[in-house]
Amino acid sequence: MGRSAHRPRRQEARTSVLPATLLERLGPLLGDEVRALELALSSPSPTSIRLNPRKRFALHAAPVPWCANGRYLDERPAFTLDPLLHAGAYYVQEASSMLLEQAVIACGLRDRDILALDLCAAPGGKSTHLLSLLSEGSLLVANEPDHARRHILAENIWKHGAVNAMITGSDPSDLRALPAMFDLVLVDAPCSGEGMFRKDPFARAQWSPALVAACAATQRSIVQHAWNALAPGGTLLYSTCTWEPAENEAQLIPLVAEGGISVELPLDPSWGIVSDEVDGAIGYRCYPHRVRGEGFFLSALKKPGDLVARMKTVEEDPGAAWPWLSTAGSCGSVELRDLRYAFPSRWSAQLRTLGNALRMHAPGTPFAERKGEAWAPHAAAALSLALERTVFPEVQLDLAQALAYLSGEALPASAAAGTALVTHKGSALGWVHGAGRRWNNRWPAPWRIRSQRSSAPRVSWQGS
Ligand code: SAM
Repeated sequence: MGRSAHRPRRQEARTSVLPATLLERLGPLLGDEVRALELALSSPSPTSIRLNPRKRFALHAAPVPWCANGRYLDERPAFTLDPLLHAGAYYVQEASSMLLEQAVIACGLRDRDILALDLCAAPGGKSTHLLSLLSEGSLLVANEPDHARRHILAENIWKHGAVNAMITGSDPSDLRALPAMFDLVLVDAPCSGEGMFRKDPFARAQWSPALVAACAATQRSIVQHAWNALAPGGTLLYSTCTWEPAENEAQLIPLVAEGGISVELPLDPSWGIVSDEVDGAIGYRCYPHRVRGEGFFLSALKKPGDLVARMKTVEEDPGAAWPWLSTAGSCGSVELRDLRYAFPSRWSAQLRTLGNALRMHAPGTPFAERKGEAWAPHAAAALSLALERTVFPEVQLDLAQALAYLSGEALPASAAAGTALVTHKGSALGWVHGAGRRWNNRWPAPWRIRSQRSSAPRVSWQGS
């Protein structure tokens, strides 16, 4: 839910204890483990990241047991001062929420090309996770109704680099025009945020039974639209960062009553994740005293019926006209508001249907922007996995130079001309344009880092 208009001051939020009404509500779920939960919520949050398997960097760190690319870090480093974060080599994500991976595997969603929708997607933790898990032939529609959050979502998806994503900004009610459209809908619902009390003092301060009721009402509407947009045989993944049954099982029981089938996840008991079944709805809860992560709830529900195989259609390949794309016949291109986007051509029929029904933010990966009569490569093209690295000269940056670049500074040069790609540790970052004795900076202003100083440790990558 949106934050209350009158935020408590930081100091008040930090000293507040778990509300008594919440302790009472947790009693039936946890019994005498409530005290252990309270203790865990008073200890520091673990720090975890999820590596981008297609940008291949490694570090010595403990694995998150339920996520192949999840890693715990012993201390919280200065992430913004690590150029590889900006290069999309990893995403800073809370470990419990990586449980999504187990549901994707258990529901067989990796085994075929699917049309997927992440309905409440910003800032993009689960969208980028899905992009790492689903086949490259799948298409992910990442939707976020909040304008400002949608821009952060786009930034994170483009840094991840997959070309099989589009970004929309619709209210879930727009899905009325898309009945039975998607093979997977993820609803990571706005919620009362109990599971985030440790990380976010404001979540603790704004909690109330009235907030739980208001969230439950919003979730009911979102889930109904999501369910209607799901194809027969499709999967609804529903998650929140709260333990409230009213915001979790109660949202799913009506769907079970309509024939929805709860999917059991084969989780290792040593992981400490708690499963409950209420009226046929199976849910999985992470509690900070049982797992190394924050509070989280996840459930998977199949709609009755059989998935229909997706037809393959192939349209225009922009590769020849756009030499910096290495899409090898698999992508089409579309122009919207002075940007050229690449999208997987096999989904071009769906692109038209989706474009008519949803509020389109980005129909694919922007790879070129109009500059007068010409087209220049877009920032997202540098970060894209489809970038053809042989087309532009490269300027390799050390850490200090990369931080200067990410801060928006021009870089000194001897005889710089044309467009070049800047890289750090071999990973593409962005563009510069030559102006003789300097490279002008083309890193997007909204993505700039604000300070190059921090006393926090650095991320220690293997081999660095
Ligand atoms: N899935 C995201 C991730 O993993 O990074 C986090 C999603 S956050 C829990 C919930 C999101 O739902 C917020 O970005 C919020 O703006 C959005 N939201 C709020 N109200 C919504 C609504 N009625 N329909 C869809 N999304 C909504």
